[in-house]
Amino acid sequence: MSRMPLQATALTQKLMKEYYASCRESHARGRKVAWSTVMMPTEILLAADIDVLFPENQSATCGAKGLGPELSELAEAAGLSQETCSYVRCDLGIRKGGQSPWGGLPDPDIVFCATSSCTTVTKWYQDLRRFFSCEFAMVDMPFNFSGEITEHAENYIVEQLQGCIRQIEALTGKPYDYERLEEVVGLAQTAHEYWRKCLELGATNPSPITTTDILVNMGPIVCLRGTQAAIDVYETLYEELLERVRIGYVAAGQERFRLVWDNIPFWFALGSTVRRLSAHGAVLVGATYLYHWVRDVDPKDPLRTMGRAYSTAITMNQSIAHKITKIGNMLELYQADGLIIHSNRSCKPDSLGSLDLKRAIEDRLNIPVLMVDGDHTDSRAVSDAVVQTRMEAFIESLEQRKYGGLQLA
Ligand code: SF4
Repeated sequence: MSRMPLQATALTQKLMKEYYASCRESHARGRKVAWSTVMMPTEILLAADIDVLFPENQSATCGAKGLGPELSELAEAAGLSQETCSYVRCDLGIRKGGQSPWGGLPDPDIVFCATSSCTTVTKWYQDLRRFFSCEFAMVDMPFNFSGEITEHAENYIVEQLQGCIRQIEALTGKPYDYERLEEVVGLAQTAHEYWRKCLELGATNPSPITTTDILVNMGPIVCLRGTQAAIDVYETLYEELLERVRIGYVAAGQERFRLVWDNIPFWFALGSTVRRLSAHGAVLVGATYLYHWVRDVDPKDPLRTMGRAYSTAITMNQSIAHKITKIGNMLELYQADGLIIHSNRSCKPDSLGSLDLKRAIEDRLNIPVLMVDGDHTDSRAVSDAVVQTRMEAFIESLEQRKYGGLQLA
């Protein structure tokens, strides 16, 4: 069957390019801009007509464009350790004059930071506040050790979001529009639902889409949920995947082995990772990272449900037991033959407990696990030869286990 390009990918690329450009233009005309961490409930900003930009998304794009090493070197020359997350180093590298793939972000009037992903972001955003002499808002997201968020934790987040809204009112000089917030949260929920349905269709066996193709379509769910434009992208993607499933389209050619990736991908090697695996009949059919944007929010109770969704959708602020259960369920859904865990030098919070995770998945689910050391953006921290060798050895073991023979190319 001939290759079917995804219209949704073209829509995503156009939308993201136009969004960054329009933020620059509207900021020049006086519209307020916020910079935010990706785990912040930024719907509260959109509802106040504040454009929101995400340095993490810019840094991931730097990684995909191969800019990670040179930007990291600029940041290291300015004093950051190579142990600091490479998303932070890419951002500082751009602020020190390095190249931004989006042509740079307009300076923020306010920076927003939520701590559910890590504590690195608190220091990063304090530095941004000093650098730009702008307003600063932070939401401290509590850890959920039991898997369920407690009522007092929800109340704690809601009170902080109410504080953020008071800061937004002070910044805009207008009373906050709670009706508009309901509207935005309703749009975000529709985008989340389409996103979830796309991921579920991606789990079809054989898979109608590779993980790389979903990863390159993440921009709108990360940056533009709460807008009709994001819904349009994922409705298109969903319809395209439905059609692919209907006609039996197989995205990767052959699926001798179905694999799931844990942790942030190697942004600079998305294509080569897939090619390297597919040369041996192995396909990445899923990635845990994509599920950070599977959330449920309710426009009728926006602050509470956003607080709950944003502090439970990711695994970094939850127990390792919860992470093992979540990934175990995902491996079953994807009918995976193996799990690749990226032990990510930059994202230590997402790599914490990786050995426990590996042991649990192997012992309890009897699914083989490969751990590869790396970094999501700074390719200097990844040994290509070592990754190649370890992946080949892993697939060889899968071959013997599943088919009882050796068929390496
Ligand atoms: S350490 Fe991980 S969670 Fe924190 S900013 Fe970096 S990539 Fe994001």
